[in-house]
Amino acid sequence: MKITSVQSHVLGYELPEELGYSQQYYSRRTAHLVEIGTDDGVTGWGECFGPGNIALANKGIVEKVIRPLILGDDPLDRDVVWHKVYNLLRDHGQKGMPLQALSGVDIALWDISGKVASLPLHKLIGGAHRTSVPAYGYGMMLKRESVDDHVARFRDEAAGILDMGFVAAKMKVGLGPEADVKLCEAVASGVEGRGRFMVDANHCYTTPDAFHVGRALEEMGAYWFEEPVAPEDLDGYRELRAGLKVSISGGEAEFNRWGWRQILENRGLDIAQPEVCALGGISEYLRVLALCHAHHTPVVNHVWGSAISVTANLHLLAAMPTLPGGIAPREPWLEFDTTHNAFRDDLLTEPLDIQRQVAANGGRVGIPDGPGLGVEPDRDMIARYRIDA
Ligand code: CA
Repeated sequence: MKITSVQSHVLGYELPEELGYSQQYYSRRTAHLVEIGTDDGVTGWGECFGPGNIALANKGIVEKVIRPLILGDDPLDRDVVWHKVYNLLRDHGQKGMPLQALSGVDIALWDISGKVASLPLHKLIGGAHRTSVPAYGYGMMLKRESVDDHVARFRDEAAGILDMGFVAAKMKVGLGPEADVKLCEAVASGVEGRGRFMVDANHCYTTPDAFHVGRALEEMGAYWFEEPVAPEDLDGYRELRAGLKVSISGGEAEFNRWGWRQILENRGLDIAQPEVCALGGISEYLRVLALCHAHHTPVVNHVWGSAISVTANLHLLAAMPTLPGGIAPREPWLEFDTTHNAFRDDLLTEPLDIQRQVAANGGRVGIPDGPGLGVEPDRDMIARYRIDA
């Protein structure tokens, strides 16, 4: 069996409203899908993390750098392909966009492998530890409005996310430590007595500012404090984890087993959040997962992007062993973006319908069981939204 085509599809549209997190405001949604064809007629789909112009640049890496290296290779030789590409890209970037590009290619090869074996991805990995996963909703994005307006909106949105059936709600911060504590108090009161909340700083704080917010979060009973400081600041993570009672999470901006080895050995994370569409795909995710569990660090995948990414993550969450095990284990959660996302809700010929599942099944989402990823993108939708033609 041979790889005969490798193609990127970059899709985009204007969001109905501008949204923000601690680093920027944005008004476009982008998705980067990778489609790999074979001489057997089997097609695989993958996705690369990276919005906007990053997606267009990653398309260049997929089609101009990786495609010539792997055309004619056996798509079932996922690990051989991975190392061939990584070893040749090593001198040009062991992190960042080359790995994001390789991730989409690797995921597509796993999709092909599952289809050839007539096995769903989670079965190919080793089987499902669970047939559904609880989902938490993130929203409460920043806007160009006053702190008081944020406070009122965040309280309502937090309650609304739990009303939708999600098991917990995650908020953004980034207006400055004093204002951010007010936003966190609003969310704590919005979910009070009904569910947990988490706080995502997208690495906007210095360590002292993160301690200021983190100490307030301890009092409010927040579940986790995500990316409090810059991913490069390993000392900051370690000091925060040692000094705060709230769990410190992060890792979505880390890549491959060597990057993850460093942050795990540094002991700065209570919860690891690997991003499969960025760190090197499923092949590398499984190695990172093993490393996390070798350090007894629980994993809650970072999930972003289209229905391809969400589906891949559903399989990975199903196939994730409990750590350390028991009759009432802590389960991995599916991260779900509650803001407008047509590429997740409308991309597939048979949509995942996650919001309906969450509302109907106590916050839980079922695991697809068709071969490979088990989903089919709608080609009309891809044609309608592509921005890379
Ligand atoms: Ca995050």
